[in-house]
Amino acid sequence: LTSGLEAAWTKLKGEEVLTKENIAEPMRDIRRALLEADVSLPVVRRFVQTVSDQAVGVGLIRGVKPDQQLVKIVHEELVKLMGGEVSELVFSKSGPTVILLAGLQGVGKTTVCAKLANYLKKQDKSCMLIAGDVYRPAAIDQLVILGEQVGVPVYSVGTEVKPSEIAKQGLEEAKKKKIDVVIMDTAGRLQIDKAMMDELKEVKKVLNPTEVLLVVDAMTGQEAAALVTTFNVEIGITGAILTKLDGDSRGGAALSVKEVSGKPIKLVGRGERMEDLEPFYPDRMAGRILGMGDVLSFVEKAQEVMRQEDAEELQKKIMSTKFDFNDFLKQTRTVARMGSMTRVVGMIPGMGKVTPAQVREAEKSLKLTEAMIEAMTPEEREKPELLAESPERRKRVAQASGKTEQQVSQLVAQLFQMRARMKNLMGIMEGGSIPTLSN
Ligand code: GDP
Ligand code: MG
Repeated sequence: LTSGLEAAWTKLKGEEVLTKENIAEPMRDIRRALLEADVSLPVVRRFVQTVSDQAVGVGLIRGVKPDQQLVKIVHEELVKLMGGEVSELVFSKSGPTVILLAGLQGVGKTTVCAKLANYLKKQDKSCMLIAGDVYRPAAIDQLVILGEQVGVPVYSVGTEVKPSEIAKQGLEEAKKKKIDVVIMDTAGRLQIDKAMMDELKEVKKVLNPTEVLLVVDAMTGQEAAALVTTFNVEIGITGAILTKLDGDSRGGAALSVKEVSGKPIKLVGRGERMEDLEPFYPDRMAGRILGMGDVLSFVEKAQEVMRQEDAEELQKKIMSTKFDFNDFLKQTRTVARMGSMTRVVGMIPGMGKVTPAQVREAEKSLKLTEAMIEAMTPEEREKPELLAESPERRKRVAQASGKTEQQVSQLVAQLFQMRARMKNLMGIMEGGSIPTLSN
């Protein structure tokens, strides 16, 4: 998907303004990229139409190039397509919050039960799991083991009792123990059948759940969106959980579910570990699909405080991996001028999240960095290799700035690390798959 979209932008280089004519070819690329990512055809059609209408309407905006303009429109529309805002889990105001999980076999329901409990535990909610997959004894054992792993009680009465009866008993138990959130695992089948739907309906009636979440496998592409629709029509659901986004899923599921079914994706699974469950952020997902990580939002933030040309220059540098000490200094100063480092540092590709302690540390090291870079010759700033290769040069910089040689070496290493990260990001973008950058 990413490489297909990349091709679309390059076709607009040199154009002054977006027109019906010059967007025709980029729009074909976008259409093809979406179809290849297994987004459903009606969704692709509507998406392309909306983007085209908007693009032709924007006219000339000073300082913004047409290709960037189109990226921005596509980004905004992708976010809208995926539901716009984060769709939060709903909690019951009185009594336990009940979450019923449904889905086909092997999609990750049982794993999600434990992951979700682990996730909610961190929000100081007490949880209990109910083992409702009575067809395979191994399924109950699996849930018990996972429950132990995350330190959450599992209610199970074996395989002889009907799921709706287990649900009833489990819920009573949870009320007695004043549990905050009850999560019920259910059996899946290889495909939708009447018995499964009837069983789910019965369980739902007994539990009167706050959330009914359909667990779907991202690898199934647009099939996932169709499933969400069917389950919603049959039993009524409140949202979906998309699992296995860490695999080589082509992204179609994430893009189609909301549009096709009207139900939001609330959470996503990105791996087999208990920590690998997070809220679904449409804007971050759109950023990943566009293959730019968070460069886009970094540039937007930068634009608020920098002049347009500087911001564009910096973006080019970040994308071209020719990142030298002048850029390093500019970026560090911009970040400082933006005040809130926590917000911004996280947006620089590959830097990830930072803790408040790290922020204070970063503010202190800004002064240090400035002093050392100012002690470099213009040539050294442009060619950091000179410093990497020569201990004598590093020694001179250290003496001139009143720092230690070790501090200078660290700064040089840091620059090369940033370059490597950016190069990495470019590699991911050119690789064509949706980068699963951790947040
Ligand atoms: P269920 O039949 O729906 O209950 O599915 P399970 O919870 O038993 O999961 C089936 C398999 O998928 C297990 O091997 C899980 O470890 C794996 N799995 C579940 N979620 C994810 C995920 O987000 N990423 C990856 N890579 N594997 C997952
Ligand atoms: Mg299971």
